[in-house]
Amino acid sequence: MNMKPKKPIKQPQKQVNIEDTESLVCDDCGNYTFIKSYFIRRLSPLMSPTGQEAMIPIEVFSCGNCGKVPDKMMPKNDS
Ligand SMILES: [Zn+2]
Repeated sequence: MNMKPKKPIKQPQKQVNIEDTESLVCDDCGNYTFIKSYFIRRLSPLMSPTGQEAMIPIEVFSCGNCGKVPDKMMPKNDS
């Protein structure tokens, strides 16, 4: 995919039928509502291009009831 920044292109509005969508449900408690939360990835000063420690927030959604983040939203490469 071409990731060059350019002016936003107006995309033709696709009609989405809400009945064609599915609710994401918490794996643990079956709750339907999610809240925005963040993983914070720490970049070691040794690996950082600036030589400074960096904190990189990754936005995810977590269950509004038990706080579990759905597996499919977990950031990959969590080493
Ligand atoms: Zn839950």
